[in-house]
Amino acid sequence: MTSKYLMFITTLLLLSSCSYDEDYFDDGDGFIEQEGNSPANDGGNFNEEATLTTYRINGDELIKIRDHEVSSNLLGYQQDEAKHLAMFDFYTKLIPAEHRDRIVEFEVFYGNNDLAGFVAPINDDDLSRWKMGLAIEASTDISSEDFNSFFTFLTLHEFGHVLTLNESQVNVFQGNCSAYHTGEGCSNSNSYINQLFELGWADIAPNGEGGDDLYNRYSDRFVSDYAATNPGEDIAEVFATFIIEGRKGGNSIADQKVNQLFERPELVSLRNKIINQSTTLRDGQIMTRSWRNKFKFRCGHN
Ligand SMILES: [Zn+2]
Repeated sequence: MTSKYLMFITTLLLLSSCSYDEDYFDDGDGFIEQEGNSPANDGGNFNEEATLTTYRINGDELIKIRDHEVSSNLLGYQQDEAKHLAMFDFYTKLIPAEHRDRIVEFEVFYGNNDLAGFVAPINDDDLSRWKMGLAIEASTDISSEDFNSFFTFLTLHEFGHVLTLNESQVNVFQGNCSAYHTGEGCSNSNSYINQLFELGWADIAPNGEGGDDLYNRYSDRFVSDYAATNPGEDIAEVFATFIIEGRKGGNSIADQKVNQLFERPELVSLRNKIINQSTTLRDGQIMTRSWRNKFKFRCGHN
């Protein structure tokens, strides 16, 4: 089973918060999925997402695997390799090197100002190797990104998926799962995602299926409306919030989800490295709640 973790944005001009998109489907495990491993290319429609270029990651370097067939309207994006490299460079400066081993392919795609990022395992039965895709239009100026930026939150969100779904957290081959099943496999009982599931999902949505209705009923349990999509999106949103906003002073379940990550020494260490060592973000401001509320996330299914 190929599960994909997609982050959607809509421009401020698009006011519908959750519209059905026929390119995506929910296979019943609560995850929004897309056929194949990349945004579908239809060869000529400027109104669709399209994969531009796939790279293999070699440490801090990118090695191009291929340019994908795209419409002439998108050639400019595909040929802007300087921006592709700047997007990757931003990621390498944000995430410490020792935490980047599991992301082995980088994909730049055109998201139609809607789909902003995704991750997917290279092979469904090996959660130690992942592809990460970022939309080229998710950043207008890489050099000006800071902790206020959507692109920063997006990169942390996608990295957060791999951090919480990799082979140290989830077992593909375990048949009888008594903890939360992510779609890829059975999460370990003490995994980040299962702890979050037990804290905020098990009593209200034991199958892990979320959406707008769940958010509207239990909004104080979620750091964003998009987090209510499913536990996989929730933990990615919580991780990005943990990094950017830090410890919460309240006691809502949303706050407890963030503070739960402060009980993990390895995550506190990672957070300190990101906050203190990132030259890219040193001058940035910690993102505020009002910033988050400016963005609408599309769920992809209704
Ligand atoms: Zn996601």
